[in-house]
Amino acid sequence: MRIVMKFGGTSVRDGSNILHCAKLVKRYSNDNEVVVVVSAMAGVTDSLLNVAEKCCEERSHGHIKLFIADMMKRHYEAVEIAVRNEEMKSKVYSTLSSLFDELEKVLLGISYLGELTNRSRDYILSFGERLLAPIFSACLISLGVNSLALTGGDAGIVTDRNFGRAKPLPKSYNLIRSRIEPLIKINRVVPVVTGFIGSTEDGIITTLGRGGSDLTATLIASAIDADEVWLWKEVDGIMTADPKIVPNARVIPEISYQEAMELSHFGAKILHPKALEPVMRKKIPVRIKNTFNPDVEGTVICESTKSSEDIVKALSLIEKVAIVNVSGAGFDFAEIMAKVFRRLANAKVNVIMVAQSSSELNLSIVVEKSDLPKALDALEDLDEDNVKIDRRDDVAVVSAVGAGMAGTPGVAGRIFSALGREGINVVMISQSCSEFNVSFAVKREEGKRAVRVIHEEFKLSK
Ligand code: ASP
Ligand code: MG
Repeated sequence: MRIVMKFGGTSVRDGSNILHCAKLVKRYSNDNEVVVVVSAMAGVTDSLLNVAEKCCEERSHGHIKLFIADMMKRHYEAVEIAVRNEEMKSKVYSTLSSLFDELEKVLLGISYLGELTNRSRDYILSFGERLLAPIFSACLISLGVNSLALTGGDAGIVTDRNFGRAKPLPKSYNLIRSRIEPLIKINRVVPVVTGFIGSTEDGIITTLGRGGSDLTATLIASAIDADEVWLWKEVDGIMTADPKIVPNARVIPEISYQEAMELSHFGAKILHPKALEPVMRKKIPVRIKNTFNPDVEGTVICESTKSSEDIVKALSLIEKVAIVNVSGAGFDFAEIMAKVFRRLANAKVNVIMVAQSSSELNLSIVVEKSDLPKALDALEDLDEDNVKIDRRDDVAVVSAVGAGMAGTPGVAGRIFSALGREGINVVMISQSCSEFNVSFAVKREEGKRAVRVIHEEFKLSK
């Protein structure tokens, strides 16, 4: 089999975890062609983001040295534990030390300039992955697995110049294939590719958006016609609900691309919302596996699922949202809609869900809470058109997802009757024609209870 495996976050928290993950790769690479994608060590991307912003705001540079020292400590300690071979150890130390040198200079530059552009932010964020890939690769080599560390750009991921949320260009597919295939097929090497980052056509580093290493993995899988993608996480698979909210939630063995996309759009932190696009067309299954419980099957995300009896398959909750309400009377509805959404798009506001009534204009738009100021700003001057804008920032969105909902009458009835019985008031409702999900907003403090009520109503714990 040809498998693209991605490791990230807490799976690669420290040296012993990295060693554990590399041993997993070794185990599967005996009989398979394996490509590894790594993201940064847990928390590193966030720290890089913080330091970048601090450099831009504060003109003093003292904290930069401390930051670099702290990062060095974490990464060098990881090398000590994960890389057993002395020659490899010194090779990887010298790679890391020039990366740290570069990082320190960039941070100093930002602090002298007092300016942080999207482009320089991407450059700084790329260090998390660029530091881990050589460590992971050296660890594999010290375990006797032939390996080579590559950046996203080296691997052929070419993107547009939308720094912070760059989109891979179609030509990436051919490039990736021409660079990765000979390595795995002819040289029998396990490439370790930095997730999350790509490069513009003229070689400038870009990032694919937070959590983007999932997308790196599926992109490569699609380009090399992999048989499967394995996303190694810290959970046994995709669950019927967050077990922190519903203690008897269970793992879903099989879920369709569509259902998984709905879930990740609605806040279930399973995978990057765009990650399934590259593999869907080629019907490459994506497996969610537990790094710390590798023999469990996990969840397979694939073309279609047999279990149409699962009307509602999983529930998700997004707590940090707000509703922007656009209302008024007596004008062209489509005209106002177009204006509103154009403005939100220009302001890069992430719209989560929409509901409207058209008798008179009343458009409710759910956005991330952190996007609320941007959204209100963007819509401010709509006032001249006699439109009223208000907001509610005390809500949460619950989403019930399941392909079996399509064509099954009474699902929405059951959801809302169950909520009614429990005295939970619904603030806003949305269901699209695909009938893959019913989403609704409730008061934030009732969000978790709403999830439990529906989980119980559809007997999701079995
Ligand atoms: N390290 C990046 C992030 O934290 C990418 C990823 O984790 O997939 O967003
Ligand atoms: Mg990360």
